[in-house]
Amino acid sequence: MTGTRPRVVIVGGGFGGLHAARALRRAACDVVVVDRRNHHLFQPLLYQVATASLSPAQIAAPIRKVLSRQRNVEVLLAEAESVDAERRVLHLRDGRVPYDYLVLAPGVTHSYFGRDDWAARAPGLKTIEDATEIRRRFLLAFEAAEREADEPARRAVLTFVVVGAGPTGVEMAGAVAEIARRGLVRDFRRIDTSSARVVLVEHGDRVLGSFPPDLSARARRDLERLGVTVITGAKVTAIDASGVEYTPAGAPPVRLEAGNILWAAGVRGLPLCASLGAPLDRAGRVLVNPDLSVPGRPEVFVIGDAASISDARSARQVPGVCPAAMQMGRHAGRIIRDEIRRGPGAPRPAFRYTNKGELATIGRARAVGVIGWGIGWHLKGFVAWALWALVHITYLIGFRSRILVMIDWMWSYLFFERGARLITGDSTVPLRHARQAEPSADRGAGPPPAGTTGLGGT
Ligand SMILES: Cc1cc2nc3c(=O)[nH]c(=O)nc-3n(C[C@H](O)[C@H](O)[C@H](O)COP(=O)(O)OP(=O)(O)OC[C@H]3O[C@@H](n4cnc5c(N)ncnc54)[C@H](O)[C@@H]3O)c2cc1C
Repeated sequence: MTGTRPRVVIVGGGFGGLHAARALRRAACDVVVVDRRNHHLFQPLLYQVATASLSPAQIAAPIRKVLSRQRNVEVLLAEAESVDAERRVLHLRDGRVPYDYLVLAPGVTHSYFGRDDWAARAPGLKTIEDATEIRRRFLLAFEAAEREADEPARRAVLTFVVVGAGPTGVEMAGAVAEIARRGLVRDFRRIDTSSARVVLVEHGDRVLGSFPPDLSARARRDLERLGVTVITGAKVTAIDASGVEYTPAGAPPVRLEAGNILWAAGVRGLPLCASLGAPLDRAGRVLVNPDLSVPGRPEVFVIGDAASISDARSARQVPGVCPAAMQMGRHAGRIIRDEIRRGPGAPRPAFRYTNKGELATIGRARAVGVIGWGIGWHLKGFVAWALWALVHITYLIGFRSRILVMIDWMWSYLFFERGARLITGDSTVPLRHARQAEPSADRGAGPPPAGTTGLGGT
């Protein structure tokens, strides 16, 4: 043992890690929660930060604060690098922490399917930094279009391509289209923001592939009503500085000039988990035992998105969603608590996933969803959206965040306004041909005479 009381080290203060820590609140052990960020992040609402609806602090809460009342928990702001499972030591970038039990809940990262060079052009959405960078690019695109003299260049700047039509891709595409068509139209003088083109490219044959086909069809229809061009059965084969190339099955590649590309297409496990030396699935997630422990290492658990497991009841792969991470956290925490209390040796229960359902929103007041718990009702339209809003408010951490988010949502619902339209970081407007600075009140006025430049060049 590491000390007089067993030490349980948890990596990750996301949904899995926090729920594992909470399950240990009455256990006679010391709990150390290690996270490289100081905040717990509500990832399901990240796209609303990326599209300027919410500000970062509304969807994040300091981990230290969340766990402040739990006396047996210590929080370390540190990056975990590897696990020495033989010696039972977690190596940090700047130190080491011995453990008696280890719970790894570090989540996953984006997968570019071997094309990591695409990351700079097509950022994914996982952290606050990702969201504010996407927001910067998104808002700058309209600023650039306002000052761009060249018509094809302006069209390209106002073309947004979202790669991957899972819930995140669908939510992003719907939100971008809606803001361009309703939220920004009055704020620009020279461009018609509603002319922005939003293209959603999906490799599978339908959007929201994990949802039942009727809901996929409804989501596609809702997206198209918002003006999104939906392309399914097409693989993105190139991404470069000026756009995207996609290849529909059995057809030649198609080129799209696009100023903004967002990646929502895949995830992969982190090197930290690979350092365990345990078997991994194709996406690099750890193939865990039915009790969520690592094969041959009963004192090490992997939970949440980082774990690959089939549900003991349905034999289906447990999805990478918040309820699954929370349930896994509680499951691992309770096993550890019981073993600390009674000693090891008793058979451990297998993890059973309670599927509460799935919801995805498509712009203002539209969503699709399935109610879980074996009920299987399909919901569409406003009812699904209202349930989506309720569920997201409920799972947000912090009373203040819930109230503020509710007020912001009501405001945007009524007035189509986005409250967090801040360009942070580099706000250089990317221009090919800068428009003259002479006054023009005409929205959509044509480009100035050929050969003119202005406002300080390109
Ligand atoms: C854009 C987006 C939208 C989503 N929408 C939904 C949705 O609508 N509904 C739903 O149910 N799920 C949704 N999900 C999935 C859901 O967010 C995840 O399933 C859930 O967050 C997984 O929880 P976790 O604890 O496994 O990992 P995470 O929540 O990712 O937490 C991992 C934590 O580990 C920390 N960490 C990682 N590596 C290290 C390291 N080396 N050292 C120290 N700390 C580390 C991270 O900083 C983070 O705090 C969405 C995800 C994304 C990205």
